[in-house]
Amino acid sequence: MRDIQMVDLNAQYGKLGVEIDAAIRSVINSTAFIKGPEVKKFEEELQKYLGCNHVISCGNGTDALQIAMMALRMKPGDEVITTNFTFIATVEVVALLGLKLVLVEPDPHNYNISVDSIRKAITPRTKAIVPVHLFGQCADMESIMKLANDKGLYVIEDAAQATGADYIFSDGTRKKAGTIGTIGTTSFFPSKNLACYGDGGAMLTNDDNLARKLRSIANHGMKERYHYDDIGVNSRLDTIQAAILLVKLKYLDNFNAARRKVADSYDKAFSKHPEIIIPERAGDSTHIFHQYTIRVRNGKRDALKKYLESVKIPAMIYYPGPLHTQEAYRYLGYDENDFPVTSGLCSEVLSLPMHPDMEQEQLDYIILNVLKFLEKK
Ligand SMILES: *Cc1c(COP(=O)(O)O)cnc(C)c1O
Repeated sequence: MRDIQMVDLNAQYGKLGVEIDAAIRSVINSTAFIKGPEVKKFEEELQKYLGCNHVISCGNGTDALQIAMMALRMKPGDEVITTNFTFIATVEVVALLGLKLVLVEPDPHNYNISVDSIRKAITPRTKAIVPVHLFGQCADMESIMKLANDKGLYVIEDAAQATGADYIFSDGTRKKAGTIGTIGTTSFFPSKNLACYGDGGAMLTNDDNLARKLRSIANHGMKERYHYDDIGVNSRLDTIQAAILLVKLKYLDNFNAARRKVADSYDKAFSKHPEIIIPERAGDSTHIFHQYTIRVRNGKRDALKKYLESVKIPAMIYYPGPLHTQEAYRYLGYDENDFPVTSGLCSEVLSLPMHPDMEQEQLDYIILNVLKFLEKK
């Protein structure tokens, strides 16, 4: 049996290596390392796949969030509502731009931002809502868009963990994660579902004017060569990364289906266990299982993680601490006990190995060991 990894990029390279090598080689031969033709081609292919009007690539998913907020011309003091249960990138850009970060609770079962909590947090100064499609499943976009439209708010979807997931509206219409709000952002960090061999990211929008603004800001605020309309940043997707992504995009749906199969096996093995709560699948979204994250009850999470590591099964805690208790975010003035749902999740969640190249033998071994540990008195 191969060593078990959280994400097995080696196994994937074993399957796609020939194509990837050729893609990289062709960029080296062309020496068009920045803004080569593969960058435009990838933007076009991703735009077609997602079914939105514009894809603007950039340096990483964190930049994508920052550039999105810059393009919306929010001012210091404007309030931005997002979830307390996410990766730090979502909140740090809000703070960096001098906007007021307003944290709210997630849903304890599917881990996505709670719409009721958003509703209660809206004030006359609220400018934007940032739902995060956490672990590969869409937040309740229909309710969020309705709320945002009623109140005149922007919606920036952080789709870094959900490239390829479908949101399903109540009338049956499907849209890809990241293409529903004012702007969507995503990341191609090596462990994401659609990933390159370094850093990469993109912004998605259906608005022509915003698309121009996003493209300008990502490229030094440049309108035409050496004429600057906006204060911008330097955030680009390298041509080599775009060439790799062009190869991998073709397989994204297959990869996501393979992840779902792994999740089905986990679900089946754990769903009736009294000490495991399996991740709830929302009725209004497909799940592409960026992570398979269980909750372990009765305070056994840390011991289970330790045991799994002792039998060479990696497991990770996403995320170990609520954001409002982090040193850097103390200034927000939240009380330690303000977010019982988030704090509860942080003490119970455990993400198990999840990737498209999992072998049956590995999967059986993981399941067997999780159950074996929890049988012990
Ligand atoms: C990975 C991630 C990001 C940031 O992406 P980078 O490309 O690493 O900058 C932002 N938000 C979420 C939820 C993520 O998982």
